[in-house]
Amino acid sequence: MTLLVRNATVVDPSQRLHQRLDILIEDGVIAALDRDIPPTRAQHVLDAKGLIAAPGFVDLHVHLREPGGESSETIETGMRAAAAGGFTTIFAMPNTNPVCDTTTGVQYLLSRAAALAKIRVVPVGCVTRGQMGEDLADLGSLHAAGAGAFSDDGRPIMNAGLMRRALEYTRMLGVPILDHCEDLTLTGDGQIHEGVAALRLGITGIPRCSESIIVARDVTLAELARGHVHIMHVSTRESVEAIRAGKRHGTRVTAEVTPHHLTLTEDAIDGYNTNAKMKPPLNMEKDRQALIAALEDGTIDCISTDHAPHSPTSKATVLEQAPYGILGLESAFAVLYTEFVATGKWTLDFLIEKMTIAPTQVVAGSWGTLRPGACADLCLIAAGGKPWTFDLSAIRSRSRNSPWLGKDFKARVAGTVAQGRVVHLLPHLFAGEKKGAKPAIPAALLAGIDGFSASDVEL
Ligand SMILES: [Zn+2]
Repeated sequence: MTLLVRNATVVDPSQRLHQRLDILIEDGVIAALDRDIPPTRAQHVLDAKGLIAAPGFVDLHVHLREPGGESSETIETGMRAAAAGGFTTIFAMPNTNPVCDTTTGVQYLLSRAAALAKIRVVPVGCVTRGQMGEDLADLGSLHAAGAGAFSDDGRPIMNAGLMRRALEYTRMLGVPILDHCEDLTLTGDGQIHEGVAALRLGITGIPRCSESIIVARDVTLAELARGHVHIMHVSTRESVEAIRAGKRHGTRVTAEVTPHHLTLTEDAIDGYNTNAKMKPPLNMEKDRQALIAALEDGTIDCISTDHAPHSPTSKATVLEQAPYGILGLESAFAVLYTEFVATGKWTLDFLIEKMTIAPTQVVAGSWGTLRPGACADLCLIAAGGKPWTFDLSAIRSRSRNSPWLGKDFKARVAGTVAQGRVVHLLPHLFAGEKKGAKPAIPAALLAGIDGFSASDVEL
């Protein structure tokens, strides 16, 4: 199968590219990136005039919920949500039910994902057996079966000695521990940031050092073990300082930040909004500013969504009983573009870098680039036109727990190509296509694409 994406503005930070080019895809691989590639070289042509073409986004932190939580998300709906958000590689957290601490769990996820043939799903194995924090899972076997990283996400590894050993083992395997930093003895039954909002609402708070104490501990342990720790969903200024100090000393520490911690504060919880309740909690404006500065100066390496679906019924309750977490995949790029690129604070290139090549480098992957020879993972973005409203029709997840429902955004993912296959397309965002009209180019294009079903086209 050959596909030619024509006339897009290619923005690929891995090659410092920002110019109008054509992209030729052959058998799932980028075959050429050049000016004016003749359409006769391809079976299918997609005119992307007016759109931006970027490498497919990479998310190191996604909860797919299957097995065990299918009322909130399945592997299939999670992959659809990812494709709709421009993501072509996602790392699936192991805190399912049962947890992914056996080779069977890893194989199940890989075979389901391969059968669905949409995007790349990388299984993350548990660090400890049953995520109980007592003894190590069989890290070597999990890695051999296909686990691309290890994490007990949802829970911290409270035992420092065990964390040290885990970092020593994973160093030998050459993969990071994706670290959920939280001291449970400090969190107690806290629900949201221990600050003004918690006081105002009469809700028990989580002290900010619940995170930063474990960040500091694990940066120290990574230095001791010479292992690689990746701090997930960094949320406070103090955590940023601990990571910065570790990097200064040459410790192998990397870090991620979520779209919600970059754009929201504890004020979002006003009205007992359960869609603003997550772990770590939304904090103060000074934290938000510190996170932005840390991403800009490289202390924080990349953006991850922590996509955490919870069924509508589970979130439709009082704040104290609602589960932690919000959706992220469908909205991440639109939220960040609107907040930072449309306002002139960041360049488009910077945002795309932090969602493509930067997370790829954390796990030493081969994605996040449109270099000829690379896997043909890319997304097409419509930006700068009239704003669109993020509503339920934009959500592919089985859940709807997003704090951004009803918000207007200034960019939207118009199409996603994963391993050479079109897996998401909004035909009305392509020039010459009118909403409701028969999508001449995509329909002709999609007909010949292996693994594509009609339900993947969103009209
Ligand atoms: Zn977490």
